[in-house]
Amino acid sequence: MKKEKILNLFVGSNNRGKIKEIRDLLPKKVEILTPNDLNLKSPKENGKNFNENSFIKAKFFSKKSSMICLADDSGLEIDRLNRLPGIYSARWGGKKSNFNIAIKKVYKELKKKNLNWYKTKTSARFICSLTIYWPDNKYITVNGKIEGTISRFKKGNNGFGYDPIFIPLNKKITFGQMEPKEKYKIDHRIRAFRKIKKFF
Ligand code: IMP
Repeated sequence: MKKEKILNLFVGSNNRGKIKEIRDLLPKKVEILTPNDLNLKSPKENGKNFNENSFIKAKFFSKKSSMICLADDSGLEIDRLNRLPGIYSARWGGKKSNFNIAIKKVYKELKKKNLNWYKTKTSARFICSLTIYWPDNKYITVNGKIEGTISRFKKGNNGFGYDPIFIPLNKKITFGQMEPKEKYKIDHRIRAFRKIKKFF
């Protein structure tokens, strides 16, 4: 699929943390608009997996804005919780996507499985699916992931979402303790983004 370089892009997300990270990944010359700028609400994310949800969002916002749209669907899979919260990662924070509530729920569910859950490694991964949808109905969907473990305690104030409880493999600190620049170099989003970089 040969496409011209994208200079104007609609970023299909209302999540400020994600928008900031995507803005930092894109070349400076790319102008972005977000749902807020056009007063648009997000569609229902009723896909069965990350790919279906990023596709739903990218198509919806491309149709609404008549622009090329990039949408992200991402989340945290915890093996001991049968890969939850997974596609429900945002919803675990309640209606207002309160990440403190979501993190409390993770610890509560882990304790329910085993009171001593923190004595052995709790493997987890962040997954990111990105879809670019063009107004001529062409699209591309790609994935990236980063493996890691769940920290016994919440640590650090950087980033967003589950960052304070995720320790990437071969690191000693959580994403929440890392400088954003360090996180962006290794995380699920950059790993997916590398696969679509050629469009920008
Ligand atoms: P959605 O893709 O907008 O449905 O929501 C994804 C949710 O997954 C976010 O609201 C966060 O809770 C979580 N999430 C996705 N990526 C990250 C990340 O890089 N750090 C922390 N949490 C993330």
